[in-house]
Amino acid sequence: MTDQANANNIASNLTRVREQIRQSCEQHQKNPEKVTLLAVSKTKPAEALREAWHAGQRDFGENYLQESLEKQAVLQDLEICWHFIGPIQSNKTRSIAESFQWVHSVDRLKIAQRLSDQRPDQLPALNICLQINISEEDSKSGITLAQLPELARQIARLPNLTLRGLMAIPAPAATPEAQRKPFQALQQALTQLQAEHPEMDTLSMGMSGDMDAAIAEGSTMVRIGTAIFGARNYAT
Ligand SMILES: *Cc1c(COP(=O)(O)O)cnc(C)c1O
Repeated sequence: MTDQANANNIASNLTRVREQIRQSCEQHQKNPEKVTLLAVSKTKPAEALREAWHAGQRDFGENYLQESLEKQAVLQDLEICWHFIGPIQSNKTRSIAESFQWVHSVDRLKIAQRLSDQRPDQLPALNICLQINISEEDSKSGITLAQLPELARQIARLPNLTLRGLMAIPAPAATPEAQRKPFQALQQALTQLQAEHPEMDTLSMGMSGDMDAAIAEGSTMVRIGTAIFGARNYAT
């Protein structure tokens, strides 16, 4: 658990996180209206999400398909924007295409192609972020920055997807300055892509431990789990 997060107090945790976002924006001269708070609810029960919803939270990020579908069934009465942020197996793409509005973790054309093919006709285009392995760690999913322009070009052509931006989970860094470096590289990559893909407007970056650094470098979507819901019971 972080210093302040208290699993019994989701509403006050949310208030505190929103206030931290506001302060970071003020300090780094960013517009707080451009930073969406995505509540990462993996491993947390549906009732925790309901509590966050009643405290005004609308965007939720989930990593595990089956777990998320179970919660979505229980929370059908609530208007929620669901984001898939975990690794994607190709045999799971149909359910993802049917049940989410955003996918942040696309790193292969094959997966994108399937999501586009399987997106139901009556739903709007699925919003896509490409996951970048920004610290080039062997253990992490994502493409390199060198692979990015070509994959973006291919995915932008798919009919039932809208390519919105980039997502990354940088390796832990010791200092605030070191935390900013990979986020800055991601921001620069997005700026370059925007010349060809003006619809790309999203930088999905920043978690409980590095949110301020991400906002300093232009994050438009911070993915916050622990600081809202408390520590998770198993490592992910
Ligand atoms: C779990 C997770 C988060 C949230 O991490 P916290 O440190 O709990 O805020 C954000 N993004 C992704 C992709 C995750 O898997």
